[in-house]
Amino acid sequence: MLLCCAAAALPAPPYRALIIDGQNNHAWQETTPVLRRLLEETGLFQVAVVTTPPQGGDFSSFRPDFPRYQVVISNYNGEPWPRPVQEAFTAYVRGGGGFVVYHAADNAFPEWPEYNEMIALGGWGNRDERAGPYLRLRDGKILLDSSPGRGGSHGARHEFLITVRDRQHPVTRGLPETWMHAKDELYDRLRGPARNLTLLATAFSDPSTRGSGEHEPMLFTVAFGKGRVFHTTLGHDLEAMRCVGFIVTLQRGAEWAASGQVTIPVPRDFPTAERVSVR
Ligand code: ZN
Repeated sequence: MLLCCAAAALPAPPYRALIIDGQNNHAWQETTPVLRRLLEETGLFQVAVVTTPPQGGDFSSFRPDFPRYQVVISNYNGEPWPRPVQEAFTAYVRGGGGFVVYHAADNAFPEWPEYNEMIALGGWGNRDERAGPYLRLRDGKILLDSSPGRGGSHGARHEFLITVRDRQHPVTRGLPETWMHAKDELYDRLRGPARNLTLLATAFSDPSTRGSGEHEPMLFTVAFGKGRVFHTTLGHDLEAMRCVGFIVTLQRGAEWAASGQVTIPVPRDFPTAERVSVR
C-alpha cells in the first residue's frame, strides 16, 4: 500500500514512446538500451521497445499499436515490414504521430514511397537519382540537386563541427551556432524526396576524410501530413552516442516530435565550437 502510494506521488511521464529494433547492420542490441535511457532520463517519456523477428522470421505477430504512442523511434534497418504494418505506420504519422529517424533507420525501406517521404533523405539500399535529389547548400540556401549518382556514403569516423542552420526551431533554439560532435560517421550524399523539410544543422564533409566536399544535412525535421518527423543522422555507435550534442538533440527532437514543443533546457555541458563534450 505504501509502495503504491509512494509511486503514485510521482507524476507519470506525459508521453509514450516506442522504439523499434530487431534488424540493423548496426549494433541495435547495444544502442536501443542507450536510446531508452536517454529518453527516460528526461522524465518525459514512458518507453516501450518492440523487437522484430530476425531476417526471414515470422512477422505475423509484429503488429505494433502505433496510435498508442506519441512518438515512435526507429532503430531498424532491415527487411520490409508486412504491408499492413507499413499502412498502419503511414496512417499513424500522417494522422499526427511523432517519428524519430535515428542514424541507419534512414537506410531502411528504399522501396516504400511513404517512408521515404517521411525521412525526406536516405542512403544506401541501391538509392540513386531515382530516390530523389541531393540536398545542397548554395549561398546559405537549399538547392535540390538531381544529378545522377549514388545515395549515401560516409568517410572515416572522426570528430566534426556541426553548424546550426535554424536557430529559431524549438529543437535547436538556444544551442551554440557551431559545436564539436564526438567521433562519428558523417553521412554524406543522402538523397530522397526532400519535401516539407526544415534543415536544422549541417556538417562539412571534408574530402580529406573521404567526404563529399559539401555541407551535409545532419539534423532536420519533416512534415508528413499532420505528423512531425525528427531525423538525426548521428549516433553510429556507443562512442558517438556519448556526445552531449547527440544526446540533447535526440531528446529535444523526440519531445518535439511527440508534442510540437520543447521544454528540455540546453545543459551546461553542451559542447562548444572548440571542445567535444561526452557523458
Ligand atoms: Zn553507422
